Amino acid sequence: MPSGASKPRGFAQAQIALMKQQQITALAEPITKAQKAANLTDYDSGVLRLIQRDLDYYTRVPPALIEELQRTATDATVVWREARKRSDFARFRPYLEKIVELKRQEAERLGYNGHPYNALLDKYEEALTIEDVDRVFSTIVPRLKRVLNKVSAEGRFPAHHQLESERYEEDWMRKVNMEALTLLEMPKETFRLDTSTHPFTTGMAVDDVRITTRYEGKDFKHTMFSLIHECGHAIYELQVDPSLEYTPLVTVTSLGMHESQSRFWENFVGRSKEFVRLIHPTLRKNLPFLSQYNDDDIYKYFNMVRPSPIRVEADEVTYNFHIILRYELEKRLIGNEIKVSEIPSIWNEMMEEYVGIRPKNDAEGALQDIHWSQGSFGYFPTYSLGNVIAGMIFHHIQKDMRLEDTVKSGQLTKLRGWLREHIHRWGGTYSPKQLQQKVFGEEYNPDRLISYLEHKFLD
Ligand SMILES: [Zn+2]
Repeated sequence: MPSGASKPRGFAQAQIALMKQQQITALAEPITKAQKAANLTDYDSGVLRLIQRDLDYYTRVPPALIEELQRTATDATVVWREARKRSDFARFRPYLEKIVELKRQEAERLGYNGHPYNALLDKYEEALTIEDVDRVFSTIVPRLKRVLNKVSAEGRFPAHHQLESERYEEDWMRKVNMEALTLLEMPKETFRLDTSTHPFTTGMAVDDVRITTRYEGKDFKHTMFSLIHECGHAIYELQVDPSLEYTPLVTVTSLGMHESQSRFWENFVGRSKEFVRLIHPTLRKNLPFLSQYNDDDIYKYFNMVRPSPIRVEADEVTYNFHIILRYELEKRLIGNEIKVSEIPSIWNEMMEEYVGIRPKNDAEGALQDIHWSQGSFGYFPTYSLGNVIAGMIFHHIQKDMRLEDTVKSGQLTKLRGWLREHIHRWGGTYSPKQLQQKVFGEEYNPDRLISYLEHKFLD
């Protein structure tokens, strides 16, 4: 879209939001009636639960507020791009102040128990509260700090690697990526890969899921892991039970659950020693510079640990610190404990405390992410929950198969089957907490993730 088109786009999106509101609120009566029916199946209850969520949102948040949020976000995103380019937080500040004010209003309208931020968390991860997130992070932080300190001191997982500077022809990596898609058994008829500046997944239907990646010309792990990450998202969407198509259930249950799928494939599968062995022949065939490196070099390169002020460059060990920082800031902003003008300085202090690096400027500090300009408050925590749930999959799947052996033998069908059976096929039938109880018998247990990280990086 040309940058000048943001006004009409904002208008169109606001109109669509209003039309959606009208359509949903018209369902209030039939839904109330249906909820009283006897013998509801889990699918029935799922449909009613999802429509009720939309109904709650649209009956509580007035159209004028929805429209203002949408319009403000559209303007703010344009200003944010410019502000980030110039590293000029002051330029973005009034827009962010407006957005925070509108998000507070939205939380008040939605209603909440305890903290107003709970209302916003629930939008992305149903029934999630700050108690859940605080519990997760209070377990993660001290143990993760220990991992980071030890890894940095020992240097067994390097902060720099020669392979980062090896250049590749786009064509070479295209071939590697195509073979990675074959290894992951991505379907030819219902899935496709394209190129874009920011990689993403978009699902049009169970039989039409598309992802993108990008080619930077060097440091080949980026394009490969972003491909595997998006494939994780895509496999989820492709494996929803097709009989749920054209119902509200043909969705993923939450952003945290969605991200758990991408993280599972990217980190627990893709960055394992077994996967290195599996993809090694493909890499060696297409990347001539690899003749000077062995499997262990590639494994170390895939698992570098380098504290960085930039979230999207973060590794498995430091990533969650970036999320904790954003979560704390959002919680305090929405709770009216801090002012927008204080963000850059608090951001930099916290980054130094958690990651050990002070951002040089606001472009690599508080201005680095698009989320706040879009009004997405409550979104960030789902990234960490994705890691946490991926850790739970890693732990609980061992009852049914040894993941290492499954990956080593390249039998990823088995792995995909497990995920389909336990998680994917349900679509939105269960809330994320219900689904976790059903599959794992526990909710957001951070111990699984942190034990995996300790084992991988310290043993
Ligand atoms: Zn993702």
